[in-house]
Formats: sequence, C-alpha cells, structure tokens
Amino acid sequence: MTSTALANGLLRCHACGRLSRTRPMQEGREARCPRCDAPLHARIPSSVARTWSLLLGAYVCYVPANVLAVSHTISFGDASSPTILSGVRGFLRDGDILVAALIFFASIVVPLLKLVVLTWMLLSLHLRSRWRPRDRTATFRLVRAIGRWSMLDLFVLAVVVGLLRLQNIVTFDPGPAAAWFGAVVVLTMLAAESFDPRLLWDALEDAA
Ligand SMILES: [Zn+2]
Repeated sequence: MTSTALANGLLRCHACGRLSRTRPMQEGREARCPRCDAPLHARIPSSVARTWSLLLGAYVCYVPANVLAVSHTISFGDASSPTILSGVRGFLRDGDILVAALIFFASIVVPLLKLVVLTWMLLSLHLRSRWRPRDRTATFRLVRAIGRWSMLDLFVLAVVVGLLRLQNIVTFDPGPAAAWFGAVVVLTMLAAESFDPRLLWDALEDAA
C-alpha cells in the first residue's frame, strides 16, 4: 500500500515545500500557502492541455526546420542552400562520418524522439494506462534531462563553421530553418516542463 499526500488530504507548496491540509475551495478563490502565499495545487494546472498545445506547436515547427535552408553557404564561390538532411549527406560524401552522424542524431533523431515520447506520455494519460509507470516516469525524466543538451548540435555546427571560416573555405549565414529549429527546441522544453509526471501515477491511485 502506498500513501500519498493527496490521499491524506495534504498539498505540498511548490515554492516553500510546506504541507497544508486541503480545504474546500472558497468561492472563486484558489487555495494559497499559509506560509508563503504561493498558489497551492496538487497537480500543475491544465498540465495536459498546455503540454498538448506546446507539443503540437513543436511538431508544426519541426517541418520547416527540416525543409527550409539551414544556411546560406557559399563555398568556393558556389552558392547553395542546404537543409539539415542535405548537409548530413554532404558531410557523408566528404567522408566526415562522425560529423554527419552527430548532426543527424542531434538535429533530426533526438528532437523527433523527444516529441514522440511526450506524445506517448500524453496518450497514456488519456488511455488511463497502468503499464509500467515507473519506466514511463524514468523515460520522462530522461527527455527533460536531454533538453539542456539540445543546443549541442548548434554548438558543434558553430565550431565546424568557425574552423571552415578560419580556412576561408565558406561564408556562412544562418538560413530560415535555424529559427524554426530553435523554436522546436524551446517549445519541446516548455512542453516537458508543463507536463506533470505525477499524473502518470493517478491512474493507479484511482484503480486502488
Ligand atoms: Zn509556501
């Protein structure tokens, strides 16, 4: 048997950590922490709706991020506007397998994987899934942890471009896809932050 704060009529303040007894809501007024006056809520308010909208926004931005030109590169006086994928192909053609793999995973696979995992989390809530909540919580923690590394590929790209520039091989200007890509990263991070992993356990509480 597990005992949760909510089942015992307790709410934990997100700001100062104080436990308070839940009281019936006074009309039109939300419960507040008696110590620090922060709003009290058992779960992040409208977590599912907010996560869905941020997630859908990220999916929408993912398309132009991969279709539009990621840079306006002029190499050897030859102007081209590669997308992320054609850039990967270019590095492969030149034999830079490591750079190609790094950009492919960091720019295409990982962002999409994060979107898919968050979608799976939300769908499992809607289906009131009771399947391996511990593993789902761990997966969610992983997605949120990856968020802070999401700019890694931009960093790698900046270093590579910097080196090429030093050798006067290319002139590099970020293309429109760069802004869309940044939007995907930011929206996914916000979606992960607005998701409340405690919701994953509520289906089990209800069944108990
Ligand atoms: Zn408080």
